[in-house]
Amino acid sequence: LAALFLDRIGHSDLNAFLHVDRALTLQQAAAADQRLANNDATALTGIPIAHKDIFVTRGWRATAGSKMLENYTSPFDAAVVEQFNAAGMVTLGKLNCDEFAMGSSNENSHFGPVKNPWDKSAIPGGSSGGSAAAIAARLAPAATATDTGGSIRQPASFCGVTGIKPTYGRVSRYGMIAFASSLDQAGPIAKSAEDCALLLNAMAGFDPRDSTSLEPGQGGDKEDYARDLNQPLQGLRIGIPKEYFGEGLAADVEQAIRAALAEYEKLGATLVDISLPKTKLSIPVYYVIAPAEASSNLSRFDGVRYGHRAKEYKDLADMYKKSRAEGFGDEVQRRILVGTYVLCHGYYDAYYLQAQKIRRLIAQDFQDAFTRCDVIMGPVAPTVAWDLGAKANDPVANYLADIYTLSTSLAGLPGMSIPCGFGQGEKNVHRPVGLQIIGNYFAEAKLLNVAHQYQ
Ligand code: GLN
Repeated sequence: LAALFLDRIGHSDLNAFLHVDRALTLQQAAAADQRLANNDATALTGIPIAHKDIFVTRGWRATAGSKMLENYTSPFDAAVVEQFNAAGMVTLGKLNCDEFAMGSSNENSHFGPVKNPWDKSAIPGGSSGGSAAAIAARLAPAATATDTGGSIRQPASFCGVTGIKPTYGRVSRYGMIAFASSLDQAGPIAKSAEDCALLLNAMAGFDPRDSTSLEPGQGGDKEDYARDLNQPLQGLRIGIPKEYFGEGLAADVEQAIRAALAEYEKLGATLVDISLPKTKLSIPVYYVIAPAEASSNLSRFDGVRYGHRAKEYKDLADMYKKSRAEGFGDEVQRRILVGTYVLCHGYYDAYYLQAQKIRRLIAQDFQDAFTRCDVIMGPVAPTVAWDLGAKANDPVANYLADIYTLSTSLAGLPGMSIPCGFGQGEKNVHRPVGLQIIGNYFAEAKLLNVAHQYQ
């Protein structure tokens, strides 16, 4: 099985994979065969998986899509990788992504963009573009991804595959190269909700090495996320936020979403009109908080301990400056500048503190809504995938496209994307649309159930 996928990867021109090592993969596959022969297998033993290059991996490079870490190999495995290895999964390689997971199109990768397998002139979405493209093109049956403001859901949507961002704190961040620590959360991207459930079973659980990992009794217990897949949806109340269907939503996306909602009604669910009035504020709030945390997290890349170091410099300060100027791409530098600005003395109260207060109100919006519905549904993104290059020089256009995913992340809620059709019109016919399903804290099993019944 591993050899078959390696051959497919070898023939692919999508640029989804950054590192493959056939010998290492086949060695792991042989060990999995041995476990199967010894009756020592889990449900995942021998199944190939590929990891977003934001997870550190022993024996494989971990670049985070950055020149800064171009030649970096970690001496240890991320918690997520450790768990999949323990389950007997076989690593196929490392997947392309936006630099330090900052982006919505995968065009911010130092190693070049990924192509959307449905339409190679389109972006795959981001930042986990390599993960979504690899699943869509059947280069891997399972992939890891991370979501800080939409990076699991949006590429899954643009590539017509299934992805789930768990409740913040469910999955350990240990060994995940940090972007914005209060938002970063790992999750799986796969073909179906059922596959995602099996992967989440291995990924989730308390880890004392991550200070924000949920403790046992508070959401950190091992759960069977596949337990409710076959529950009927009779009586399910689906909240439809009016802010997710207003101005800016493309007609073809709306049509696909409304058709999916009609299917849910046929399955016995009722649609309830709700409001998430602070939705618009999620963009400015996110683009204050995420860069603030990023500027702090990325200060470790100083050219001294690890990562890129400039060849020529005058003194220590010059070495820091040149190493960072050469190692970080434009978007990363932009966010560091924004982050240090909003955190500096005199502006902290006006920007960072204010953003934190609004973040709390955004979370409250959802709690108010969940008094009237069980799950919330809407589009993942306002449009289908755009053309490669179309917004590459327009960061704000990229930020605005995150409108439907950011508030879930700010609130720490679980959210998923499932394929629900394609765009219309000459250009968009092969570009998938994703339905977003948002649940209350710890409602992953419910989300997977709701997704599975549709699939
Ligand atoms: N597109 C958002 C950003 O650029 C989200 C990225 C993510 O979730 N990692 O920050």
